[in-house]
Amino acid sequence: MKAELVIIGTELLLGETVDTNAAFLAQELAALGIDLYYKSTVGDNWVRIIEVMTQALARSDLVIASGGLGPTMDDLTREAISAVANLPLELDQEAMKMIEGYFQQTKRSMSENNRRQAFLPRGAKIIANHWGTAPGMIVNIQDKIIVALPGVPRELKGMFTTYVAPYLSQRITAKKTLVSRTLKFAGIGESQLAELVHDELLNQSNPTIAPYASLGEVKLRITAKADSSQQAYELIQPVEQRLIHQLNGYYYGADHETLESVVGAMLRERQETLAVAESCTGGLITNRITNVPGSSEYFDRGYITYSNQAKVELLGVDPSLIGQFGAVSREVAVAMAEGARARAGTDWSLAVTGIAGPAGGSKEKPVGLVHIAVSAKGNTKAKQFRFNGTRTEIKFLVAQAALNFLRQEIKDTE
Ligand code: ATP
Ligand code: MG
Repeated sequence: MKAELVIIGTELLLGETVDTNAAFLAQELAALGIDLYYKSTVGDNWVRIIEVMTQALARSDLVIASGGLGPTMDDLTREAISAVANLPLELDQEAMKMIEGYFQQTKRSMSENNRRQAFLPRGAKIIANHWGTAPGMIVNIQDKIIVALPGVPRELKGMFTTYVAPYLSQRITAKKTLVSRTLKFAGIGESQLAELVHDELLNQSNPTIAPYASLGEVKLRITAKADSSQQAYELIQPVEQRLIHQLNGYYYGADHETLESVVGAMLRERQETLAVAESCTGGLITNRITNVPGSSEYFDRGYITYSNQAKVELLGVDPSLIGQFGAVSREVAVAMAEGARARAGTDWSLAVTGIAGPAGGSKEKPVGLVHIAVSAKGNTKAKQFRFNGTRTEIKFLVAQAALNFLRQEIKDTE
């Protein structure tokens, strides 16, 4: 079954509302094993809604429309379906009762406009809305299906899950399930990663492998189609293992895992503790680490030492090091890390010092230059990085590199 989404609402085209309904419906269809081939967004405009609906019906077996079912004159979905399906609108007694019932239950008075919502194309199956007034509908035109749901995300979700998903899963003859797993990599760019797994990317069919780059990391999404999710996982597993093996060292986690959650899990398992000393990231690393529930088990403290004086006072950095090498230097990063670990008495420490820009760079020390140090008992290591981007992007990239460096160091002591 080929599906298509028609997302209706001028506010979506104006960028005032972010379209979350399409993302929800896309995921639900994937879980049902229904292929989604197209998605259109159209404003509350009669001519263009008709145009998009007609095109959708011509090329897809299932059209799911979101929005425009409300009581006002700019809600055109009912009329549009009636026009493209060539089925007249008729008062649906059941719909009328549901709408009246909703108003009685919520003790609000019903307007004449709400009666419009009870008019449905002839033969349409009504979808009850327990979350609002606008009923949804399922319309069958020969072997094609149109489903219309209100735009309010809570209503759409409730109605899809309760009524539409069971209806569709009954209709699907050869039911297939899609399962995806996302592997995450840090410290490597998208093209370099694609080169390393070139053969895997070339020879894929089921599962498919798609690379995605986002700020400071690259993802590989593996998607398999099978009769059951168990079988889909079995198809994914060997591919996942090969990819992780080939990209060993860069792989840090899958799906909802983050660098901070992975580092946290490693520390917790070893019952070791961490302190962080930050300059250019201004607390971002500490914030990310403490966003992980249960981080108090391993995270001891964070120092935000932005000025030279703070580095000296809070971390005991030797002022002559700053004088000789500058605050953004390997020497100072190492001293910050060692100072933090000594003062906090933790097993590990992580320190960063860099230039986030846009000003403050020089020829020898350009914007985006950063030194990161990781200290553990008897051993402190430092690395230099150079990042490009806006101030906020650079801060995020530094945090990403720092957490990844710490992850690698903890892993190396295994
Ligand atoms: P109602 O019965 O509430 O009038 P409706 O079917 O007419 O329902 P709309 O008027 O299109 O729905 O939208 C109602 C609300 O839902 C608006 O606040 C809108 O911003 C929001 N909304 C509409 N479509 C989407 C979407 N695709 N994703 C997220 N929010 C949406
Ligand atoms: Mg509306």
